[in-house]
Amino acid sequence: MQLSIVVPCYDEEENVRPFFEETCRCLDGILEHVEFVFVDDGSRDGTAKELKKIGEEGKAHVRMLSFSRNFGKEAGLVAGLRAATGDFVAIIDADLQQHPKYVVKMLGILNDHPEYDCVAAYQEKRREGKTLGFFKGLFYKLINRITDIEFHRSASDFRVLSRKMVDAILALPERCRFSKGIFSWVGFKTYYMPYEVETRQKGKSKWDFWSLFSYALDGITSFSDKPLIISSVLGLILFFISIVMMFVVVIKTLLFGDPVAGFPTLCSLILLLSGIQLLCIGIVGQYLAKMYEEIKARPLYVIKEEYDNQK
Ligand code: UDP
Ligand code: MG
Repeated sequence: MQLSIVVPCYDEEENVRPFFEETCRCLDGILEHVEFVFVDDGSRDGTAKELKKIGEEGKAHVRMLSFSRNFGKEAGLVAGLRAATGDFVAIIDADLQQHPKYVVKMLGILNDHPEYDCVAAYQEKRREGKTLGFFKGLFYKLINRITDIEFHRSASDFRVLSRKMVDAILALPERCRFSKGIFSWVGFKTYYMPYEVETRQKGKSKWDFWSLFSYALDGITSFSDKPLIISSVLGLILFFISIVMMFVVVIKTLLFGDPVAGFPTLCSLILLLSGIQLLCIGIVGQYLAKMYEEIKARPLYVIKEEYDNQK
């Protein structure tokens, strides 16, 4: 059995060594069957240099792909999965928030239960603020309702995959890589294993509220066309309401000679309707933008340098 460990790294100079040492310690017995695939996602600090230094020390098989700039974690994951050669592939962050001891546990589960092709770790106790937790809850409710695939709320991309599943993921041609969706879209049996997330070792998280928000939008538009349907239905409903209103106004004027006073009503109606129109155009625009991205068909990332301490 060969295991590849894919580690996306962006500005993790201070974390990669502790991460590497801890992982080597956890995988002590099987280290000769392990390859590390670090993806340096255009780090501005000395991450690449540090990784090569680790490689030169020769403690394990270390490979590194270095991007020409920051392309984002999703692109890093694709590059890592493409490069990985193992029968099993683990995906783990470089900041030791996800402890490598769980990789051993996940491998054990896959070995004992060959019917599973993936073990995904999920956080039993979430460490996040109340507001963020609320919005995340809302997002998962929504996306599970409007898509046909299942999104597990607390599962991250910390997982171990079989070769079969990795090949299925890599066969998807799309450029929008919302990995949570892709993992469940390809199917296969997934075992959800609870784990406890640690606090970040050094440096800070690259996610803030807005990046999470746009990530959530990405997820919805990548896996569902329901928002388009909702905006058409909304248009239809408003159309019917306006017909009814027209009748009411005409009949009122004919029967009672009541000249409908209504400047404020008009104002609020115009505001309401133009607001809804803009919203719907925006929704269509989101899909258009997605198509534009796909049609351009640019590569997901550009590799500046490759390193392998066994070559
Ligand atoms: N990461 C990356 N490219 C990016 C942002 C993050 O490769 O543009 C890596 C980062 O180095 C880390 C992992 O993705 O190994 C998770 O990032 P982070 O810790 O910032 O996210 P969080 O744990 O807060 O979800
Ligand atoms: Mg982290």
